[in-house]
Amino acid sequence: MSAPRVSVLIVAAGRGTRLGEGLPKQYRPLMGRPVLAHAVSQVRRALPDASITCVIGTGDEEVYRGALGPQAPKSISGGETRQDSVRNGLEAMSEEMPDFVLIHDAARPFGIDRIANRLLEALQAGGFDGAAPGLEVPDSLRRAIDGAFVPVERAGIWRVQTPQAFRYQPILAAHRQTRGAAMTDDLSVAEAAGLKITLVPGDERAIKITTAQDLVRAQAILIADCADVRVGHGYDVHAFGSGDSVMLCGVRLPHSAALAGHSDADVGLHALTDAILGAIGEADIGAHFPPSDPRWRGAASDAFLRHAASLVAERNGIVAHVDVTLVCEAPKIAPHRPAMVARIADILGLGQDRVSVKATTTERLGFTGRREGIAAYATATVRLPA
Ligand code: MG
Repeated sequence: MSAPRVSVLIVAAGRGTRLGEGLPKQYRPLMGRPVLAHAVSQVRRALPDASITCVIGTGDEEVYRGALGPQAPKSISGGETRQDSVRNGLEAMSEEMPDFVLIHDAARPFGIDRIANRLLEALQAGGFDGAAPGLEVPDSLRRAIDGAFVPVERAGIWRVQTPQAFRYQPILAAHRQTRGAAMTDDLSVAEAAGLKITLVPGDERAIKITTAQDLVRAQAILIADCADVRVGHGYDVHAFGSGDSVMLCGVRLPHSAALAGHSDADVGLHALTDAILGAIGEADIGAHFPPSDPRWRGAASDAFLRHAASLVAERNGIVAHVDVTLVCEAPKIAPHRPAMVARIADILGLGQDRVSVKATTTERLGFTGRREGIAAYATATVRLPA
């Protein structure tokens, strides 16, 4: 039998704001990449031949492209409810006509690698139209009724995760048939339409990111996955030329001179870019962005740093910590340090507790002491999957 055609539908249309203000949770940064980007790359690793469609909120096209970059899977607009969004996504797959479809929540970035094959095996074995990952509940359960907490029999209680897998035609028909009925997952939709469903073992790592505490747990899972710890080092110097401001660590500081260079001459971000490249054995900034290339004339150096970070992400790694030391007599760095930390944290999608910017003088010794230019040292701790 030839391999089944598998499509994956990632539901990323939610507006969940329990994490606080700002972006919906699927677009929140999690160690350098949005939650949704982690989910997409997990799906790609688990099912390299599967076609992926993301259902996104209406009007979210720009934030979606920004989050996933040029490798973004195709996307379609979601509906009013999760169910409407899934149905839209399934309808949009009609030309692909997959044998099986996995329906997954963007807010569960982990565990797909372990779950996907169990689901497909359950469907291929025959007898079921749908399968979902489930875990038995180890805790005692109580139900709140009128202020009392009544015990609930725990035996046989499972909690259900995603992705959930289905034969394509039957689940599409089930969604059309149950349109408008409120159900919490696709397994319930399948069941309501009379499809045969089963559970396979889920994975403790397949947590759903809903609260700020979940983000902390997700971070711990990622860090534990990346046990190959690398430290890279970078160094850069730019000379002063005429001008009235300098760009340092992504922040413009007024000064009696400017830094000369092909790009914006941000010596701090250049050293940091080299540190990240060094940690993954990817040569140096000049190899990736040759000074002879007119594209980089006057370029904002955050593009270089983003590129280095994207090479780490491509390896499914994380930048865990960065530390930059600026060496100059002037301008004074200290008043601008918080802005620099915030800027680097923003570029790298990291918490500010993982970014350090320091400054020192050389006691008027050497070229920095003579105020001929600014030097920067940086280290980056990068973690890769072992
Ligand atoms: Mg440079």
